[in-house]
Amino acid sequence: MLWFTVDVGLIMAEDAKEPQSMRMLNIGDAELFVELSKAPSPAEKRVTELLAERIKDRTGVVLAQSSDKAKFRLVIGTVATHDKVKAFAAIRKEISELGPDGYCIAVDGGKSELYVIGQSDSGVVAGIGRLMREMRYEEDQLDIPALQICEAPQMPNRGMYLWARKHFFGKPDQVDRYIEELALWGCNGICFWFEMGMFNSFESTEKLNANMGYGNHKNTLPASDYLNMYRRFYKTARRMGMKTGLLMVVNDAYRTSPKEMRIKPIIGTPNCYLCPSKPGAVEQMIAWQEEVFKALAPIDIFNIFPADPGGCSCKECDPWPTGGFWKVAKPLGDRIHAISPKTEIWVDTWHLNHPTFGGKDWKHLVDSLDWSKERPEWFAGFEVAMAPHHKYAGMGSEERAYYNKAKQPLTVFPDISMWGNHRGMLVNQNYWKALQAELNSYDPELMKGGWPYAEHWNTDIANAVFLSWFWNSKKPVGTVLDEYAALYFGPEAKSGRALLELLDDSNKDPNRKQKIQETLAKLDASVPEWVKRDWRWGEIVASCRRFK
Ligand SMILES: [Zn+2]
Repeated sequence: MLWFTVDVGLIMAEDAKEPQSMRMLNIGDAELFVELSKAPSPAEKRVTELLAERIKDRTGVVLAQSSDKAKFRLVIGTVATHDKVKAFAAIRKEISELGPDGYCIAVDGGKSELYVIGQSDSGVVAGIGRLMREMRYEEDQLDIPALQICEAPQMPNRGMYLWARKHFFGKPDQVDRYIEELALWGCNGICFWFEMGMFNSFESTEKLNANMGYGNHKNTLPASDYLNMYRRFYKTARRMGMKTGLLMVVNDAYRTSPKEMRIKPIIGTPNCYLCPSKPGAVEQMIAWQEEVFKALAPIDIFNIFPADPGGCSCKECDPWPTGGFWKVAKPLGDRIHAISPKTEIWVDTWHLNHPTFGGKDWKHLVDSLDWSKERPEWFAGFEVAMAPHHKYAGMGSEERAYYNKAKQPLTVFPDISMWGNHRGMLVNQNYWKALQAELNSYDPELMKGGWPYAEHWNTDIANAVFLSWFWNSKKPVGTVLDEYAALYFGPEAKSGRALLELLDDSNKDPNRKQKIQETLAKLDASVPEWVKRDWRWGEIVASCRRFK
């Protein structure tokens, strides 16, 4: 077998006639030693543990404990922290020229030393993640192809927004591991929404048992437990070299909020939210948000969210974008900026196309933050919705052109959960391609990344697709699916990939049902046990069951 993937010069070969430098490394027990710097960063240490765990879990091979007896040495680090990396980089121009968070992988079949070099901690982690996807895991043997890859991300903000309580937050250990796995896909930020409407107050520690907050979610935990959970996840993210993001709805309030400050009810928004036009309400909202911000600090990215939920339909707040919304957003941004000048503060415009919000008044907001002198110093840019099937959050081409014309930085808030949602793993290539076209319709100079909105574990493939686009927005969906199948189905990648194609919501094959059952049965009988130990297997099986 001989195949080439021209990424940035990736070459693989197993043919004996190939030069030795292009041959696969075959690694057995205690033959590979990971050489970190003398003072490795927490990210370098953690990613090495993850690498060792994955290799052992899948092949049974353990890493060498010392350098002297090892047959191969994998050198991991950055130019700034690792002398050996620095020396290696001195003779390779592409390494010294790596963009922010980029990585280089150098595996030469003729040499015993392998390199994964990152421009930063996040780059080291993404580089090891890429190496894990290129490795081939056999019983008692790890194979690493000859590789020369240098890649740097196109966009600086490559986040994930994990939302739904019951799906994510009921499994904190799995969330911790998931955050780390997202980092291996090149993710460098994790975002959560702290919804005050879910709790009686900031201080209250009483156990709850009510349907509350937006969407009437069953919640049993007080605010303090949520804050502890978020701190824990942020810590996990930071250890991987990731940023922390916090999303807050601008006029959110606790369930015991002062009645005289409350909103005139609006679509879907809990009644406890405050109206920015009532005396004292703006001060109260800022004080509450400051309290949460400080409790979760340090926060790298703060996101001011306008609606769904949020808003007020009183006369004084109308139209919401330039009225009530900006009445809170401006002083809130000022306050957050004063507390933490390094925090990026983004203004989201989700759902502002709704007639309740003045229909097109969001354009006036964009105008005022574009060319007038009203733009505050802290304004990082607009977070724009990416939800082509959503009546009020979707962006038409004319609207996207409006943002391009405003010449302000942009990030995206893509909906990857709601559309075509069903039990089991989501595969929806046509929809994802529509999102990709939207992403690429924005001025690449302005587009800085974003965080896809994931409601369930089953968006895992969509997450990988989006994270890949933040690195390279032109990467074909099919290429990411190939990588995904290779990573999660191992030696059965080909059948796994075929199954994903069959499970695709746009697949019209008349014999689809039968083919799905046959392919699943084949995989069930042939995949190694480690495939089934991964929670993704359950999602894939659930997808197949829909076709019984
Ligand atoms: Zn109002």
